[in-house]
Amino acid sequence: MSMSAAKERLVVIGGDAAGMSAASQARRLKGPGELEIVAFERGHFTSYSACGIPYWVGGDVEERDELIARTPQEHRARGIDLRMRTEVVEIDVAGQRVRARDVDSGAESWTSYDKLVIATGARPIRPDMPGADAPGVHGVQTLDDGQALLDTLARTRGRRAVVVGAGYIGVEMAEALINRGYEVTVVNRGSEPMSTLDADMGRLVHEAMEGLGITMVNGAGVTKVLTGEDGRVRAVATEDAEYPADVVVLGIGVRPETSLARAAGLPVGQHDGLLTDLAMRVRGHENIWAGGDCVEVLDLVSGQERHIALGTHANKHGQVIGANVGGGYATFPGVVGTAVSKVCDLEIARTGLREKDARRAGLQFVTVTIESTSRAGYYPGASPMTVKMLAERRTGRLLGVQIVGREGAGKRVDIAAVALTAGMTVEAMTALDLGYAPPFSPVWDPVLVAARKAALKVRAS
Ligand SMILES: Cc1cc2nc3c(=O)[nH]c(=O)nc-3n(C[C@H](O)[C@H](O)[C@H](O)COP(=O)(O)OP(=O)(O)OC[C@H]3O[C@@H](n4cnc5c(N)ncnc54)[C@H](O)[C@@H]3O)c2cc1C
Repeated sequence: MSMSAAKERLVVIGGDAAGMSAASQARRLKGPGELEIVAFERGHFTSYSACGIPYWVGGDVEERDELIARTPQEHRARGIDLRMRTEVVEIDVAGQRVRARDVDSGAESWTSYDKLVIATGARPIRPDMPGADAPGVHGVQTLDDGQALLDTLARTRGRRAVVVGAGYIGVEMAEALINRGYEVTVVNRGSEPMSTLDADMGRLVHEAMEGLGITMVNGAGVTKVLTGEDGRVRAVATEDAEYPADVVVLGIGVRPETSLARAAGLPVGQHDGLLTDLAMRVRGHENIWAGGDCVEVLDLVSGQERHIALGTHANKHGQVIGANVGGGYATFPGVVGTAVSKVCDLEIARTGLREKDARRAGLQFVTVTIESTSRAGYYPGASPMTVKMLAERRTGRLLGVQIVGREGAGKRVDIAAVALTAGMTVEAMTALDLGYAPPFSPVWDPVLVAARKAALKVRAS
């Protein structure tokens, strides 16, 4: 048999974090003589950081290209046959092939595979309402979206911006627009911003955002976007009010992009994400893997499947998939639900379960909330920080932590993420040997203050 006949072909759908990490890792393990890699990307860019879009729009990052980790040319130079502006429109699982369409010419062709990686990401939720597509209304999912928003900001004379949605993308975009000198109103359906926190912690974010000059409108669903005579956006309407707007940014969440996979009969879970095993192989399919925003992940704290669209998971999934596709072995055990973001100087972090998650999982728990400071109280620059902690009743197992504060608050959540992953009790956490010096923390780190208080409450529970 000739070498070329023995060569396997890996097809990758989606050219960003999960897909190109998988392709690159597989290429590290298997050279072009053993494995041919064909990757399809319908957009203009590969391997870029959507996470950086708010900071590019806000002006902290100057150039779009700084957000691109690896260009199509760089991937090709590493032996990946990357087909840009080419959309996969069908997966034929039985025939082991995909049908792809050139986005510009419309030309279609089939490509067969021995192994397939689905890394199609997530699709932003777009409100089904009049005016949602009007000029001046923008999403921020892709670099093209970011550029279109920047073009609008450059053209628009008015300085009023409305952000729809107050999840982390909404609050990061509020900051970006503040930095650009806009008057910002955030319209939010939930009772408080950052619904990934409990409402009492979201309330702190709300107050801090108002302190930054952002107008927060909570409990308000947007019903339509109103346009002026020129067809451009002029206001956003809720049931009760109208908010004038020269530009509107939508940040109301995403859904897994699994339409192709579902049409091919691949298994999806209750959140519409593809279901995989620990090796990121699509359940029931030996030669198909999936990762990133298009899959559901196991929440190690609640034991339930969740959809969490974060780049941190997508990159890890890609590595695991690439190792397995390339003949190695790796697994992705699951997540504890850690996330960090900021709005101006306010840092917001969470890991583990909120109260409602814990209840939904059937757990009984205690909660504590403490106030502390980022540095020793006497040390210059010490700023207040609030830490909320949940621990299981009786066992004292840590269940979740939420932190809102200024500099040094956000990444403290990583202490709790490690403790959660290790299955620690709050009692055991109180003895953690964390670094201390006055410029870095009080002698009892705020996370340990919360753990001590939680341990006392567990003993009484
Ligand atoms: C504004 C913003 C800020 C963010 N900030 C953070 C952050 O701070 N921290 C964090 O962890 N995460 C953050 N994220 C999330 C992070 O960007 C995503 O989780 C990550 O990009 C997911 O990677 P992925 O490869 O799964 O999907 P994507 O990045 O969505 O890539 C999927 C790719 O597949 C392509 N594709 C889809 N279908 C097809 C098809 N049929 N044929 C060909 N190509 C196809 C798409 O064009 C896309 O390029 C942010 C996201 C946004 C939008």
